[in-house]
Amino acid sequence: MLRPPRPTRWWCRSSSSWVTRHLRRSRTPSSTVKTLSPDPRAILEPSAVRLGLVAGDKADALRQCGAVLVDIGAASSAYSDALLEREKSVSTYIGEGVAIPHGTNESREHIERAAIAYLQFPDGVDWDGNEVQVCIAIASRSEEHIDILQSLAAVLMVPESAAALRDASSIDDVIALLSPQASSPPTEGKPVVKALMFYAPEDLRVEDVPEPEVGPGEIKLRVRNCSTCGTDVKIFYNGHQNLSPPRIIGHEIAGEIVAIGDGVEGWEIGARVQVIAAVPCGDCYECNRGWMEVCQNQTSMGYQYNGGFAEYMIVPREVLKVDGLNRIPEGVGFDEASAAEPLACAINAQSILGIENGDTVVVFGAGPIGAMHIRLARANGAGRIFLIDVNDERLKMTADAVHPDEVINGAKVDVVERVKELTGGRGADAIITATAANIAQEQAISMAARNGKISFFGGLPKANPTITCDSNLVHYRQLRIFGANGSAPHHNKAALEMIASGKVPVKDLITEHIALENVLDAFDIVKRGAAIKVTVEP
Ligand SMILES: [Zn+2]
Ligand SMILES: [Zn+2]
Repeated sequence: MLRPPRPTRWWCRSSSSWVTRHLRRSRTPSSTVKTLSPDPRAILEPSAVRLGLVAGDKADALRQCGAVLVDIGAASSAYSDALLEREKSVSTYIGEGVAIPHGTNESREHIERAAIAYLQFPDGVDWDGNEVQVCIAIASRSEEHIDILQSLAAVLMVPESAAALRDASSIDDVIALLSPQASSPPTEGKPVVKALMFYAPEDLRVEDVPEPEVGPGEIKLRVRNCSTCGTDVKIFYNGHQNLSPPRIIGHEIAGEIVAIGDGVEGWEIGARVQVIAAVPCGDCYECNRGWMEVCQNQTSMGYQYNGGFAEYMIVPREVLKVDGLNRIPEGVGFDEASAAEPLACAINAQSILGIENGDTVVVFGAGPIGAMHIRLARANGAGRIFLIDVNDERLKMTADAVHPDEVINGAKVDVVERVKELTGGRGADAIITATAANIAQEQAISMAARNGKISFFGGLPKANPTITCDSNLVHYRQLRIFGANGSAPHHNKAALEMIASGKVPVKDLITEHIALENVLDAFDIVKRGAAIKVTVEP
């Protein structure tokens, strides 16, 4: 049997569900949780474990879930309808062949007592395109079920134990698997490795996790460098809509192959490799048109797959499928190779932007990506390059490394006027906004020369994504405004080549090397802008 997809969601995000919201909020150490919660056997009792069932379809399975909860006296029959109702607004499929049906918020009045039921459908039930073999049906008014959901999360993280949950042949096996003591610590008896685990915004922990094992179609890496960027800081504070916790984050990855799964060809143990961060599907309309960076089914390292802030990491088959594992050229260090991913994003943006020989270029943002943009623009034939930021220290640090022709502090001078002044009133030919500041995009439009081109390289805050655009400037001055969304696998290869050839050096941009234990310090350095590029060495 093919392994079902990894869990993609641990709680129902699209509609606030009290059952799953609590799962997210209660990620306290299990010892604390245990003292607050009743004995798990009181929540999952043997009579609520039903093996070897058959269901015609999803609705049938949900009705059976409701019937078991009614049967054990946990809910009245109205709760059954609420299971179907909840499923209409959001699928309760959570991955690894498991769904967690539960009622709508309003249906809590139909719950008699907290209980969980395990229903096994060995032949599988179609669940909106996923195959479900196990339903964990939940009746809970508040937090009584959390211990078991946390155990479930731990079980599903390890493919072997997830399979054991699907294939359980006795009631005791099921209860043993889902009892908190069985999964805590989940690492017992297995080699452990250090990793940075994201549980929730501002709840990230460096902890021991089971050493990952390579599966068919996968490759296992000893991670040597995983670099940090603003995205990691954003994840630290806000999480990400596509990130399913608990998750090892880190997406700028370079390492060494230590194991190769069945069916993988063309690689050998010891090969030095770099991993793409954004993973296109390779099958959709956009991928087929060669626009893999805007794949509509894009997944990402550190979001759906465990990332590189760990001693070991699995390169998923999805990455190998799209040729997303790249050999590091000779002479290029692991730290430099880990910076290939952000450089790949700059390469994508500038290839769309189309800098021409002698163009006057403005780069907004003196961070690492701004520094790479300046070097890349030089390689692409730019004439004079001006760097704009609002932080003197960051401007100086980056300018000392990449030597723009002019440095402009936007907090002190009118940047549009200054650029006009520097160009004899003509404006800049190409402008790149490598910052999340709305005003930079507006200023870019105002300072563009006739026939100028602009790359909105940095996205704007989700809560405030609009700018004021003088459309007549765009029209009469014939401006071209482009977006840029990450990179495709081929941009990563191009980045490694540019680093290797010396066209775009990155070694001197990596100003901090930090041990994995101190990875949270690395985020702090990035947040303060106190280094150009910070790399973590697990
Ligand atoms: Zn990044
Ligand atoms: Zn695609």
